[in-house]
Amino acid sequence: MILIQITIDGPAGAGKSTIAKMIAKRLGFIHIDTGAIYRVITYIAMQQNVCLDNEDALVQLIASTKIDMEQQAEGEQKVFCNNIDVSKEIRDPIISKNVSRVAVLPKVRQELVRMQRELAQDKNVVMDGRDAGTVILPHAECKIFLTASLEERAYRRYLELKQRGYNDELEFVKKDLARRDYIDENRKTSPLKPAQDAVIVDTTCLGPEEVVQEILRIYQEKKETLNNVL
Ligand code: C5P
Repeated sequence: MILIQITIDGPAGAGKSTIAKMIAKRLGFIHIDTGAIYRVITYIAMQQNVCLDNEDALVQLIASTKIDMEQQAEGEQKVFCNNIDVSKEIRDPIISKNVSRVAVLPKVRQELVRMQRELAQDKNVVMDGRDAGTVILPHAECKIFLTASLEERAYRRYLELKQRGYNDELEFVKKDLARRDYIDENRKTSPLKPAQDAVIVDTTCLGPEEVVQEILRIYQEKKETLNNVL
C-alpha cells in the first residue's frame, strides 16, 4: 500500500481541525492536530507558572511533559497531558490568547516539530496546523491551505465559543483572530504560509461537507498521479 500524508494548514478559525477530523475518519487515517500540542505546552506552562517567554524553561518543560492523543470512536479527539485529559482546558480563550507567544519561540518549535514528525512517521495521516506542509511534512503527497475571510472565521469561532458557554463579543473574537494571524504570519521561524505545492481552498462560502468533498477530490487526483508514477 502506498503511504499518503495529507497536510491542512491555514489561519485560525478556517475550520482545519473539523475538516481534518472528518477526512481522517472517512479515509481511516490518523488525525494529528498540531495546534493542540502547542496548546498543551502553553497550558502546562501556565499551570506551573513558567514564564511564556522563557525559551529554555519551556524546552525543559516539553522534555518532562507526556502528551498523548486518543481518537474516540465518534471521531472526537481527546488530548492528555501527563495522563490527565485536558481536551477542554486547552480550548479555553486564555490559552488561545497566549499560545502564539509560545509558538513563536524557535527552540520550542524545534522540539515540537520533532515530536510531530515522530507521530506521523510511516503512517497515513491528516495533519493540520500552520507549518505542516512547509516544515513538518515537506514531502507530504497532498497539501491543502484552508482559508476564509476574517469576518467568516470570526463568526464561526464566535458561535463555537457561545456553544461552549463563553459569551465573548464578536468584535473581540475577530480582533483576537487577527492578532493571532499577524503573529503566526510574521514570525521568523516557520511562519504561516501556503507550501508552494499546496492547493488553496477558500471556505468562506462553503459548508463543512462541501469542503470535505473538495479535499477528497484533490486527494483522489494526487493518489491517481502517484499510482501512475509507481
Ligand atoms: O490550530 P490552533 O488554533 O489550535 O493553534 C493554536 C496556535 O498554535 C496557533 O495560533 C499558532 O500560534 C500555533 N501553531 C503553530 N504551528 C502549528 C500549529 C499551531 O505555530 N503547526
